Amino acid sequence: MSRPPDVDRLARSMLLLHGHDDEGHEHGHTPAPAESRPGSWRKAPDFTSDPDRAAAVRASSQADRERYLNSGLASVDCRFCHVSVKVKKLGPAHTSVQWTRDATQRCAHFTEIRDAGGDPARSPSCPRLADSIRHAVAEGCLEEYSSAPSPGDGEPSTSP
Ligand SMILES: [Zn+2]
Repeated sequence: MSRPPDVDRLARSMLLLHGHDDEGHEHGHTPAPAESRPGSWRKAPDFTSDPDRAAAVRASSQADRERYLNSGLASVDCRFCHVSVKVKKLGPAHTSVQWTRDATQRCAHFTEIRDAGGDPARSPSCPRLADSIRHAVAEGCLEEYSSAPSPGDGEPSTSP
């Protein structure tokens, strides 16, 4: 009789059926809830505010950086020529002065040097301004800026 092939075919069809059933089972399980349930993980890819958030993070770290760079930076007016420069006190013996072009042009001390045919760039600073800075420090207008990065800042200083 043709019993063995029958069994074989039956077994195969059962396997096929089982396999198909298994596939259908899985098919009905995975994508269906994702499409019918909006709160699932599928929401993440079309989360349109994600780039906004990235921009916000970038903006806040930019503000952080600015705050970091400007911390300890104070505006000091030269009492003699009344130009305003940004001064950052980095330590007891180290004061960083940011001269703007305008300040350099207007500083009477530098003007004097220019008038005398000298090069103001060779003069590190206006001595009167240095005096004014000392006064500002003495008056507590200029807080000493610690060059050590504040802990927890996490700012990677890899920028050139
Ligand atoms: Zn000056």
